[in-house]
Amino acid sequence: MTSLPKTTQKKLGLVTDLDICVGCHACAVNCKEWNTGGHSAPLTDSNAYAKDPSGVWFNRVHVYETDDGENTRTVNFPRSCLHCETPDCVTVCPTGASYKREEDGIVLVDAEKCIGCKLCSWACAYGAREYDEDDGIMKKCTLCIDRIYNENLAESERQPACVITCPAHARHFGDLGDPESDISKLVERRGGFALMPETGYQPVNRYLPPRPRKNQVGDTGTTAQLEPAETAKSSNAFFNWLDKALSR
Ligand code: SF4
Ligand code: SF4
Repeated sequence: MTSLPKTTQKKLGLVTDLDICVGCHACAVNCKEWNTGGHSAPLTDSNAYAKDPSGVWFNRVHVYETDDGENTRTVNFPRSCLHCETPDCVTVCPTGASYKREEDGIVLVDAEKCIGCKLCSWACAYGAREYDEDDGIMKKCTLCIDRIYNENLAESERQPACVITCPAHARHFGDLGDPESDISKLVERRGGFALMPETGYQPVNRYLPPRPRKNQVGDTGTTAQLEPAETAKSSNAFFNWLDKALSR
């Protein structure tokens, strides 16, 4: 068993705007590019050019068609570690390899201590752990710790690779434990939500729901309202769908 810090000084995390993510995979590719030479390097690929490629990707983009019976839409859904506050992926680790940092809340794996037992990947409800077959150890999103604290980079570039590359600006990074931070205010303004809070893991990352669209059933022709998600019928349908999709 590995213990968690009682509290963390910061809650660094990501916010992904599902309204404007276009599913281009730039975040996933730049994540792979940066991290294959960084803290968790290399991110192994197997059969990369064969029929059944597999490999280590810290950020994966899923594309869904949703249908609430009245309206359909495409939702692009980037998925990576949510840097949960009380995740079982840490506490199940028998060696102390999985740990959560007290100073910023980032969940990491110490490659020197990992024995590749995969208990953490069984415990993660979000499918965010990535086992490296070649190295025989578990890897995962580090929030690009080797970028965000890298004083050799310009301050504007000290952000996770996925955030800095997103052409649609659908991804944001910051301290979600500080209610006055820009990212917290964005979550507040847009009705950001945590994935599957019923796990009890208290994910730090947040998702911003798709806004209501024009030309849906019942649309009056007025511009789409930027109303909070919890008051929007179509967004409630989206939450229901997302819960079902992630519970499979
Ligand atoms: Fe652990 Fe999964 Fe939560 Fe990341 S998303 S902290 S791997 S339980
Ligand atoms: Fe810990 Fe590694 Fe086992 Fe995961 S795979 S529980 S990090 S020893």
